Amino acid sequence: MRLSRYFLPVLKETPSEAQIVSHRLMLRAGMIKQSSAGIYSWLPLGFKVLRKIENIVHEEQVRAGHIPMQMPTLQSADLWKESGRYDAYGEEMLRITDRHDRDMLYTPTAEELITDIFRSNVSSYKDLPLTMYQIQWKFRDEIRPRFGVMRGREFYMKDGYNFDLSKEDALHAYNRHLVSYLRTYERMGLQAIPMRADGGPIGGDYTHEFLVLAETGESEVFYDSAVTDLSFGDREIDYDNVEQCQGVLEEFTTKYARTDETHDDALFGEVPEERRRTARGIEVGQIFYFGTKYSDALGAQVQTAEGEKVSVHMGSHGIGVSRLLGAIIEASHDDNGIIWPEGVTPFHAGIVNLKQGDAEADAACEALEKALEAAGLEPLYDDRKERAGGKFATMDLIGLPWRITVGPRGLKNGVVELTSRRSGESEELAPEAAVAKLIEIYADHRVTGL
Ligand code: ATP
Ligand code: MG
Repeated sequence: MRLSRYFLPVLKETPSEAQIVSHRLMLRAGMIKQSSAGIYSWLPLGFKVLRKIENIVHEEQVRAGHIPMQMPTLQSADLWKESGRYDAYGEEMLRITDRHDRDMLYTPTAEELITDIFRSNVSSYKDLPLTMYQIQWKFRDEIRPRFGVMRGREFYMKDGYNFDLSKEDALHAYNRHLVSYLRTYERMGLQAIPMRADGGPIGGDYTHEFLVLAETGESEVFYDSAVTDLSFGDREIDYDNVEQCQGVLEEFTTKYARTDETHDDALFGEVPEERRRTARGIEVGQIFYFGTKYSDALGAQVQTAEGEKVSVHMGSHGIGVSRLLGAIIEASHDDNGIIWPEGVTPFHAGIVNLKQGDAEADAACEALEKALEAAGLEPLYDDRKERAGGKFATMDLIGLPWRITVGPRGLKNGVVELTSRRSGESEELAPEAAVAKLIEIYADHRVTGL
């Protein structure tokens, strides 16, 4: 992509309405524009990152054996009246009346609709287990939308639902989700710690929230610092293997890590003092087993092998796809701007031409652009007639992890400069060697989506 042809409305001034760094940087980097409170347009650069994150979520869900589908954003209120949540949900639900005076709503979540799809089509244990998910816009009329995409009213969320014959099977689905979420966040360069959360009125121990530690997080968290040493890494996992998934759950959830909702001072006191931490965190996901709550309310039953009719055991599992952009930036930035992890960067590398209009420099940049594209990478070539300082500042602000700088002086010696955004270190390389190095760096960060 040529920057001269792209739409990248970067702001020089720091927007005064933004209170936290991720919101400021997303506005300054021209990624989003507020349309009304808590509702945003996703400008090209922001949209690109949103898609990258979405695609990683898809890949990891499909890898875990979960089936993608899509449900509507506008739903009839009927099912919600049947489950009792139409009244219970309160003011966060955006209610709409259509021309025939029918009650509609903008989906804040979709347990009712998916359960209706299930009950209309599945009647035998033979069709279980089943987990379906969607990545879809949600609306919650938050009383205080703030921090940009972090707490929006309209936001993009992955919501998955498992249907199982027994509690035991449903808990395997729960564990599978936990494992797939660990992989998902790590691919985005994030450490998201599963913490025991509050099951609300349903109760029980079967809910974990995933939190990214950040000073600007809205949740207060308490944990044993040993949990931050854990990493999923690139281990192989067989998602059908019950013991293996259970093993990962135990590895990642037995140490103390809780949100303030479930915090227990006495238990926390048992953690060695030097490892006790109190901090703030951003909730980027939650998994939940809730048994037969919705299947009982909506009559989602299957016939067992013995011919008996039983309610299915369910769980629901969410990832805050749009919130993740904010969380990643909170975790990865410096004074000059964003630093995208390779897994989610909107472009793989920036090309900065120090002397636009110089025949040799222009040709070298174009050749680099072509070579990277031929390798399946997406470069952003700053071909504007601007000062080098301005070009560097833009690249630093938008946070591409790698920059290739091309100028007449280097080209005389047959080299360009490859700079890491994260470390600031540069090395001089032949253009072909710079391309080869980027191909190698990104070999582990290919995202294909569905
Ligand atoms: P919160 O406690 O932050 O209000 P929640 O627990 O109500 O969130 P869930 O129903 O668990 O949210 O939704 C799944 C995920 O969707 C959350 O973990 C979070 O990452 C994301 N999310 C929830 N509400 C919002 C919002 N208003 N804006 C952006 N993302 C959100
Ligand atoms: Mg939650």
